[in-house]
Amino acid sequence: MGGGDKLGFKGDISKDFLNDKIFRTATEILNIGYVCNRCLGRAFGKLLHGITNERRGEIVRDFIALSLEAGVKIDLRMENFQDYNFRWIQKTSSEEKKCSICDDIFLEIVPKLIDEAIKNVRRYEFRTFLVGTILNKTLYEKDELILRTSPKYGESIKDEINRDVGKRLEGKYDRTVDHEDPQLVIILDLKRLEVEIKPKSLFVYGGYKKLVRGIPQTTWHCRRCRGKGCRACGWKGKMYRTSVQQIIEKPLLKMSKGGKSSFHGAGREDVDVRCLDYRPFIIEILNPRMRNLDLQKALSEINRSKFVEVNDLRFTDKDEVASIKEAKVDKTYKVIVTFKRPLKQLDRLKVLNGAKIAQQTPLRVLSRRADILRERKVNKIEFRRLTRFKAEIFIECEAGTYVKELVSGDGGRTKPNVADVLENDVKKILLDVVKISRKE
Ligand SMILES: [Zn+2]
Ligand SMILES: [Zn+2]
Repeated sequence: MGGGDKLGFKGDISKDFLNDKIFRTATEILNIGYVCNRCLGRAFGKLLHGITNERRGEIVRDFIALSLEAGVKIDLRMENFQDYNFRWIQKTSSEEKKCSICDDIFLEIVPKLIDEAIKNVRRYEFRTFLVGTILNKTLYEKDELILRTSPKYGESIKDEINRDVGKRLEGKYDRTVDHEDPQLVIILDLKRLEVEIKPKSLFVYGGYKKLVRGIPQTTWHCRRCRGKGCRACGWKGKMYRTSVQQIIEKPLLKMSKGGKSSFHGAGREDVDVRCLDYRPFIIEILNPRMRNLDLQKALSEINRSKFVEVNDLRFTDKDEVASIKEAKVDKTYKVIVTFKRPLKQLDRLKVLNGAKIAQQTPLRVLSRRADILRERKVNKIEFRRLTRFKAEIFIECEAGTYVKELVSGDGGRTKPNVADVLENDVKKILLDVVKISRKE
């Protein structure tokens, strides 16, 4: 190895010098039009640590001005050198100059947006963040031009802005940049000249009991007005007075100052079915401003409701949503069945113990689901007579069994079924989920 090795260079010095001559790159950029120091310096943003692009631009411009004065023969747009007092070079008349790359956005627009971002961000509780910048078309094209002219050392406008905002937040507010999973995404939109702040959703895990019939798991907006309120829904915008979701979200939205929620349950019971064992759920709070919520307090507020009871609230993340939705849960139901004719030989129901049943998609959900035949297993059935017409039946069955149809027969679409076995017809069914066992 030659002397280059001692100097710490890697590769062929002379070739690198010719290919990446700062001088040549700089003159190309300064021939685009008037270019501010910040944009000139950005073309060399990856050279030297600890100085700003503005300072880099100053250094390069000074160097070229010196070269010009020293007699280097090169055609350059002289508006780039208005501020120099040359000894021998004649300057053209000075005129109003605007950077032909950034259009001077760094003088007013960007600082204003950054100030706004910093101000808005104070309303949020967060530890980690990420900054993003949206450029308008002209800026984007000019930025590309710089990066093409100085592919090796150039930095993009986006990177420069993101870094500036990042530094201010890290320095002053002790927050950390997180590229993987930030709690707050701050977007400086130079297209619409506005700041957008997107907090990551909060996910809270728990189990709920639904203590009453007549409310759905999730909020159903009125189909006719889609939630705006109309005559059909009594101007409420909703199909039901409340929902499990609405009761659980209330304190969480209040504490987090969040916008709305999204509810993910491990299955769901029908509106007219109670759920008397804790059904796992995850509620997602969208756009939360506060993240350090007192879940114990939320829990006791929810449990003041007569409709819903929750247990074990804890924070979780998005990944668990999928696992909660995929989980296969065996359930035990308590069914109070009223028959049309007096009950005879209730004992016959024993044949359903451990029975495999064939179920065609129930008529009541056929409009929403594909008509398929599935096989499910009744793990266990227990029963007792309540009155001449009424029986109480406990059915433990495999996940995905339609229990109402297992009782009524659904016009022969579920076989075998309770009504057939008892040679009777069903008048009324009251259903409760009494036990949920999650299979891991
Ligand atoms: Zn500029
Ligand atoms: Zn409506």
